[in-house]
This record gives sequence, C-alpha cells and structure tokens, in this order.
Amino acid sequence: MAAENQNVFAGAFVDRSGERRKDDDWLAEALQSDDSRFVPVWRKQCLVAGDPPAAVLLTRQQLDRSVDEHELIFLGIFKEHPAFAFGVDDDSPPYEDLGDFHRLRYLGTVLPPDEANLAAHARALVGWHASQVYCNRCGSEAKPAAAGNVRICMNADCGRQIFPRVDPAIIVLVHKEDRCLLGRQASWPEGRFSTIAGFVEPGESLEDAVRREVYEETNVRVGNVVYHSSQPWPFPASLMLGFVAEATTTDIELNDGELEEAHWFTRDELLSGSRKLPFHISIARRLVDHWINLGESA
Ligand SMILES: [Zn+2]
Repeated sequence: MAAENQNVFAGAFVDRSGERRKDDDWLAEALQSDDSRFVPVWRKQCLVAGDPPAAVLLTRQQLDRSVDEHELIFLGIFKEHPAFAFGVDDDSPPYEDLGDFHRLRYLGTVLPPDEANLAAHARALVGWHASQVYCNRCGSEAKPAAAGNVRICMNADCGRQIFPRVDPAIIVLVHKEDRCLLGRQASWPEGRFSTIAGFVEPGESLEDAVRREVYEETNVRVGNVVYHSSQPWPFPASLMLGFVAEATTTDIELNDGELEEAHWFTRDELLSGSRKLPFHISIARRLVDHWINLGESA
C-alpha cells in the first residue's frame, strides 16, 4: 500500500531494531550520542513547534533534566537517529522554550505521517508503562527491561515478563446495494454518524467480531467480510482493524443500546453534507470515503 494511502498514525517509519533492545553496549553509547533524539510525553501529549507544527525531537543536550536512563524507552531508528521516548510527570509543561504540548488527536491532523507515527508509538509506550507499574500476576513492583519494551516483575519467585498491550477492535462499513449503514452514539456531536465498531472478545475471529458487533448494535446480519486496512489508535492501546462487509438483512433494531440511531444512507445523502461524517484522521472516515469512491467508479 502506498504511503499516501496509509491511515494516520500507521506506517513503519521507525525501524524498531528489536535486536538493539538487549544490546546494552550499543544502548549505553546511543544514550550519550549527539545523534540520538528524545521524544518527551507529558500528560499523553507530544511536543511540537512551528507552523505547520513539527515534532520537537530533543538532542541529548536539550534533554537537560535528570531522566533515569531506565525510564528511557528505545523506539528504534528514526531518520537515521536512535530515538527514545520518556514520560514527564511535571505539573506544568516542560521545554516551554522549545514548543508546546498537544494531544495526538489534534497532532494526527497536522503532523507529517512519519512524525505522527513516531508520536503515536511514543505516547502508547509511555502510557503503557504508567499503567503497568505492578505485576499483573503477583502484584509486586515491575520494572522496565529491554530498553523499555517489556517490564519484568521484581519478585524473584515470579519474574513475569509483561509486554505492551494492543487491544484489537473491529470497525466496519456495512453496505447493501446502494446504501451503507452508519450509526451514532448519544455522546457524539450533533449530526455525526460513523461506521460500526467494537472490541474483539476472547475466542472470536475478526470476522466473528464484525458479525456480532453489527448484529448487537443494529440487528443487521452480515455475510461476506473483507479486510481493508488497520490503524494504531493509542487512546490508550487500540488497534482498529477496518473491514467492508455486505449485509444480508436490512431491518434495524438498536439491540444493545450502544447507538441512539442507525440508518441506511445513499452516497448522495453522505455527499450532501446533511450528516457529519467521521473525523478525517480516522479509519472510519477512510472506510466511508472508500465506499463512496467505489460508487463513483462503478
Ligand atoms: Zn509478579
């Protein structure tokens, strides 16, 4: 898939260099190197400067604070620079002279794709460390290892390795003939409709999850399910797996109450602007645009 067709936050722009994570000599050298870059994450936000905004990647000199080296997370090689992320707990935003911190949902709309990918990676891992202080088996303290890509329980009798979580969620554009199925949740801005989505449950395939979620939320039965693309959605740890699926029934009932409305829409209705479509950076929007374009090319 061409880079310009990539979902926002996706793209293998960081060479993760997994073999370096346990190479202590290489890491020690990289941490002191002028070549290395450091990505601060403060309150789930990333540092940017300029117009249009660009990510601020700190040099070792700019790091300018006591960061415990065990708290630095090796992300990989980004544009030939070893790149590390770290969380900052300060009450007020640090590095005020270098830029401003912003949330990723905004940064996804303005950063170039490679920096959006780096920021999402950094935010996801910093957030995971903050949420995984203790071992999830014995409750003892767990500490980072493998340059911040795993945590290890400090209880010698346990020693559990805890890996970063990614939570798979399906998101699906359901269509039948010249209409597609969109719904809205009560908490969304007025008039906004989007594709059906939900987390994959244990013991389900992705296709099973698609069929269950669509049925639970709208009562519509789905036949053929085709994979489209995926999007890292680190709020805090989702991976959105996008599908296009064909409905075999059309009667709508809001079975589980998750949606307050769901309707079948024609392409003309969606293009008329009478309904607000999903945000541009979301895979939901990409699925809707994909389906609209299928009609135009038909
Ligand atoms: Zn443990």
